Amino acid sequence: MINIYKVTKKQLEDFFIDNSYKSFKAKQVFDWIYKKRVSNFSAMHNLSKEVIKLLEENFYFGNIEILAKNEDVDVCKYLFKLSDNNKVEAVLMYHDYGNSLCISTQVGCNMGCKFCESGRLKKVRNLETSEMVLPILKIENDLNIKISHIVLMGIGEPFDNYDNVISFIDIINDPYGLSIGSRHITVSTCGIIPKIRKFTSYDKQVNLAISLHAPNNAIRSQIMNINNAYKIEEIIAAVKDYIKVTNRRVTFEYIMLKGVNDSKQCAFELASLLKGINCYVNLIPYNETSHIEFKKSSKNVILDFFDVLKKNNINVTIRREFGGKVNAACGQLRANFEEGQ
Ligand code: SAH
Repeated sequence: MINIYKVTKKQLEDFFIDNSYKSFKAKQVFDWIYKKRVSNFSAMHNLSKEVIKLLEENFYFGNIEILAKNEDVDVCKYLFKLSDNNKVEAVLMYHDYGNSLCISTQVGCNMGCKFCESGRLKKVRNLETSEMVLPILKIENDLNIKISHIVLMGIGEPFDNYDNVISFIDIINDPYGLSIGSRHITVSTCGIIPKIRKFTSYDKQVNLAISLHAPNNAIRSQIMNINNAYKIEEIIAAVKDYIKVTNRRVTFEYIMLKGVNDSKQCAFELASLLKGINCYVNLIPYNETSHIEFKKSSKNVILDFFDVLKKNNINVTIRREFGGKVNAACGQLRANFEEGQ
């Protein structure tokens, strides 16, 4: 039996063709699940009894449970319990342009970034595609809202769970699925080069964000283990190729860590590294956590850094801070929940 929420429309079309039905049935089933939001096959009135039986024999509707919910004015954070009792987070952010949901891709994370809370909880397993789809359905239903944007920036490394992430994007982007526009979907990676290259030939216009966080290998290797495997030059080369093929602008995320990567010298170095690349830099005020020694850069230091990039013609924004009060920083809700138990 297969959880229906992990099945792409293409897979469902193939299933119907294999069973001597027209592939069009897949669209009808998707419409029932993702538009009408039914959660049993017998409610699918435009399908014959025979087809409903076939579906029931092969698929089931999996579920996840809302375990905790923390609300603030501009953010709502959810903790879900999965069927094997693992827990996973999703953070909803209210923007003026819509509602954006930050989704996790793994239980824990093995990337070992020194500043990141998620990495303290080692990877337990990849999330199934269904476990990325269901938080969207659950939250839309719980708050009676429509989620317009998805960022894969929660716990885990999306490119360490590549196939499930691609199926997830296929389902949420499908016009018969959740029809979330590809330009409203962002995948963030710490820089797994072979997967950036693979993603370059993915046929959807999804946004790519790279967690760069340093202008050179010396600093990056100190704070991100992945830099021991793939160096900054390789990231830049892969990103340039990605832009050449896709014609899309890439985002570089840069967490401002006090005394580590926030000097003007770093800003000049970053500007020269990114010169001429169709990109923008998102400066992220560090969200401090009690377990990790890194501190956030002061506002003035962030503004100075911003100015240097601006004056050197690099597109740059400073990320608005969300949810400090509700432990919205990566991995914090789950970490606090587990420690409180
Ligand atoms: N593994 C992926 C996606 C998850 S992390 C990646 O590395 O991109 C999403 C973003 O949040 C990354 O840029 C990550 O470096 C950043 N991040 C992690 N901990 C943070 C913290 N405490 N404050 C601010 N940003 C943080």
